[in-house]
Amino acid sequence: MKKLVIFCDFDGTITTQDNIISIMKQFAPPEYLQIKENILGQKQSIRKGVTDMFALLPVSLKDQITTFLLEQAQIREGFAEFVSYTKQNKISLYIVSGGIDFFVNPMLEPFGPFSDVYCNESDFSGDTIQINFPHGCDEQCTNKGCGCCKPSIIRRLQDSDALSVVIGDSITDLEAAKLADIVIARDFLIEKCEELLIPYEPFESFHDVINIIDAKLGVEI
Ligand code: MG
Ligand code: ZN
Repeated sequence: MKKLVIFCDFDGTITTQDNIISIMKQFAPPEYLQIKENILGQKQSIRKGVTDMFALLPVSLKDQITTFLLEQAQIREGFAEFVSYTKQNKISLYIVSGGIDFFVNPMLEPFGPFSDVYCNESDFSGDTIQINFPHGCDEQCTNKGCGCCKPSIIRRLQDSDALSVVIGDSITDLEAAKLADIVIARDFLIEKCEELLIPYEPFESFHDVINIIDAKLGVEI
């Protein structure tokens, strides 16, 4: 049986909503809307856009933002079972997220530990929230400016003996999906996979994800 390595997105995949957008809706002045449009329209890099959005927020909001997210963010159904499933089957599970450490880590904490969690970092030492990007693009990334560069992380961790699985929902998962052996997608990532003829399996809950992986483990491998 071949080994599997899973790379799973966080916002919109593990959580039902995008947490950066939830934060901006609640706390940012309306300037964030233009930045968001520029990111989605691929007119501005994710790295620059995320930097500019958080620069709209004073550091004094830190506790309020964290409390707000922990109270209202919802974890997608079946996630706890999915994490146990990967542990039972000794499948590596990496979380690769364009989210920020101050909300990604506390939200994941009840479910861990994971093989590793990759996300962007926050710095509250200035007047406004500064974001640092410890997992930037490697030489081979054609995008540059990803922020947390998922394809770079996959290239670094991919084991040639293992099949890679990418689970995601959005444009930031697309380059990762191109490198994966198996893509499990929802929402906008489905549209992109259809458009670019990338084979994928659709999911809504992590129970679906378990069934998809079970079928791959049982039949094809
Ligand atoms: Mg996402
Ligand atoms: Zn990149």
